[in-house]
Amino acid sequence: MKEKSNLNGEIFDFYRKLDRRIFLDDEYKQYADVDQALPIGYEQTISQPSLVLEMTIQLQLNKKCKVLEIGTGSGYQTALLAQFAQEVYTIERIEDLSRKAQERLTRLGYQNIKFKIGDGSEGWPEFAPYNRIIVTAGAGRIPQELIEQLAVDGRMVLPVGEPGLQELVLVEKDERGNIKREPLGEVRFVPLVGKYSY
Ligand code: SAH
Repeated sequence: MKEKSNLNGEIFDFYRKLDRRIFLDDEYKQYADVDQALPIGYEQTISQPSLVLEMTIQLQLNKKCKVLEIGTGSGYQTALLAQFAQEVYTIERIEDLSRKAQERLTRLGYQNIKFKIGDGSEGWPEFAPYNRIIVTAGAGRIPQELIEQLAVDGRMVLPVGEPGLQELVLVEKDERGNIKREPLGEVRFVPLVGKYSY
């Protein structure tokens, strides 16, 4: 039988308690409670909180999960992943953002996160396979490397489509390695830079 996560209540409680100000620069802390994406520098954004929650819930995390995250950004989504998974491998291409996220998450006490600075569009093969994969920047298509690095019974959530408007897609890999895709609705993310950009 598939292991189902029953953490939704706990995830929601944690999400409500997690102070978004920690992940924002001083000038934007005052907007922390607004359910919107906000600038974090370098033309990047911290995602809309309700969408971060939705994507986290779609992953159906459990404490045995090894998670790959592409687009560390502020580290806000990373905190939710680290709280409910065993290990998180997170990649960010902008060095300063990665370092700041690392400082924040270390200060919060997380010891189960591995950070990498670089292009994550081809995943992180060294530690594959991952039980869960989340991409927080919009890709032109689903990166084949990420499908390959997804474990059997794995789930991946990512925005796919045009610049400025993407479809959030849930990709599931069954025990035989078959892939199923399910659209979850329209979203707007900053572009994934690299091999799978638009
Ligand atoms: N979850 C983050 C979202 C940040 S926005 C948050 O809520 O703060 C998306 C991030 O993806 C940006 O920081 C951007 O620099 C990063 N990014 C874009 N393309 C990337 C790539 N190919 N590899 C790694 N990170 C990438």
